[in-house]
Amino acid sequence: MISLKKVLVLATAIISLVLLPNEINKEKSNKKYLSEIQESQPVKRDYDLFILDPGHGGIDSGATQKRVREDEINYDVVVRLNRILTDKGYLVHQTVYDSTTKFEPQEKLRRGNDEGLVDKEKNFLPLTKRMLYERAEIINSFSDKNPLLVSVHTNSTREEVSGTSIYYPSQIIYDKKEWEDNSKKLAIEIEKSFEKNKIPLYSMGFLGFEFPLERIRDIIRDDENFKIVIFKKTNLETKILIECGNLKNPDDFLRLKDPKERQKIADAIAEGLINYTNNSKI
Ligand SMILES: [Zn+2]
Repeated sequence: MISLKKVLVLATAIISLVLLPNEINKEKSNKKYLSEIQESQPVKRDYDLFILDPGHGGIDSGATQKRVREDEINYDVVVRLNRILTDKGYLVHQTVYDSTTKFEPQEKLRRGNDEGLVDKEKNFLPLTKRMLYERAEIINSFSDKNPLLVSVHTNSTREEVSGTSIYYPSQIIYDKKEWEDNSKKLAIEIEKSFEKNKIPLYSMGFLGFEFPLERIRDIIRDDENFKIVIFKKTNLETKILIECGNLKNPDDFLRLKDPKERQKIADAIAEGLINYTNNSKI
């Protein structure tokens, strides 16, 4: 008896085969776009605040794999990123705070529920629920500070998918050209930084081949709550969501468990952010 899941996987495989030439063309055209962007003027580069948002936390662990929790990976990457940016003199607000590990990077990932949201007045709101809308409200409360937003997540999807993908809000969905223009440029800058630092970007394995497709992408085909809330319910012009890797992929799993690799990810995000904001120290 063939399960529905198998039929779906097979159908996806067939569709992928048919669509693959188009996808490869898209990859080429992305590269072309990249060189165009390097020459064009940025829409906006002066930001006074970086809002760093570690996905999930508290009772919401996010994806889990072999007792490794997504929220702890996200938190550790963001704490490391926060440290780099703060040391360089940038102003940072971190949306989630862990009352046990505080702002200390962890060698070994924990499994705690001690995270809470932190609002503009620095009140600590324990994450006893998912509190997605409260998170968006906190982010919006900083809109007078000229902020940009980086939300950090970790994926759990088919085993053959690996590497980092960077999401930006699509103009088609939100009808906001400046959102897409700014956010996509930031996504491309971070993609370049990952490439330069040899951190794996999104790749889909198929029939023993690796296809590096859609490393940066809009969220037209993604209906995960977090992406929708972060993009739809926040009014910031520049916002991206980074999926650091796929917990179900064995290479990504080992990589994300390794503190040195999490530091590399944080370093690369920081480098991309700083390049995007044109090294203008705030
Ligand atoms: Zn997530």
